[in-house]
Amino acid sequence: MPASRLVIVTGGSRGIGAAIARCLAREGFRIAIGCRQVEEAAPLLTAIAREGGEALALPLDVTREEMVATFFATAEQRLGPLHALVNNAGITGPLGAFRDLDPGWMRRVTEVNLIGTMLCAQAALRCFDAAEGEGRSIVNISSVAAQSGSPGEYVHYAASKAAVEALTIGLAREVAAQGIRVNAVAPGTVQTGIHALAGDPGRPARIAPRVPMGRVGEPEEIAEAVAWLLSGAASYATGTVLRVTGGL
Ligand code: NDP
Repeated sequence: MPASRLVIVTGGSRGIGAAIARCLAREGFRIAIGCRQVEEAAPLLTAIAREGGEALALPLDVTREEMVATFFATAEQRLGPLHALVNNAGITGPLGAFRDLDPGWMRRVTEVNLIGTMLCAQAALRCFDAAEGEGRSIVNISSVAAQSGSPGEYVHYAASKAAVEALTIGLAREVAAQGIRVNAVAPGTVQTGIHALAGDPGRPARIAPRVPMGRVGEPEEIAEAVAWLLSGAASYATGTVLRVTGGL
């Protein structure tokens, strides 16, 4: 039973991360949510507690190495040995043509999406090394953009997510013999605040008619894919990128 198992969800206070945290809490996992503003997780913590789950929120900026180490240590002190990590924190940077992109944005997006994923994955592996455990795994959140390239819109973001997928495959093969699985979920367009943050709140409505299923995804539909990859039902899946895109 997963009842005493800790799962860390980065960027978990809102959007897809919040849906993942809530879904995994319902599955019986203990959840440590990493977020830059801990108070923003209060409504989510209340919702999880109301459903009988156990979760806490701790400060985390995934780009800051010392903070990542402190976060993982505190999460384990408070909720027990780490069972799994969901590398969800991510940013898109601004919408626009790649030829006009400020290199500072490429650095920032790479820092959060790729280096942040790397730092948290390394911290998780150190936790896994320190304690015995069955079925431990990492799920990285990629994007449909890793394959489409998102021309004219988010090429910088697509490149960072393609790198996350390569990291997923390479790390999966590196640690498979230790019984650690590493997978990714690549969502299509999902209705969250990330689009407004990029200055493009109308994106989901614009994309929906192009999606074969005729609509964008809900955060909960991504969360269910993550839950499956973390579960014993996916015990032979590693180095996999599960695309959850409505056919996009
Ligand atoms: P949101 O903007 O709603 O959530 C992103 C989360 O990441 C926030 O909690 C944010 O925290 C956190 N975050 C950003 N930077 C950092 C950082 N440096 N350290 C820690 N946390 C950070 O976006 P979504 O829920 O939509 O996105 C979640 C993931 O899904 C991302 O990786 C995204 O790329 C991916 N994705 C999303 C799609 C979509 O259409 N929504 C499609 C494909 C992939 P804070 O509140 O502090 O900003």
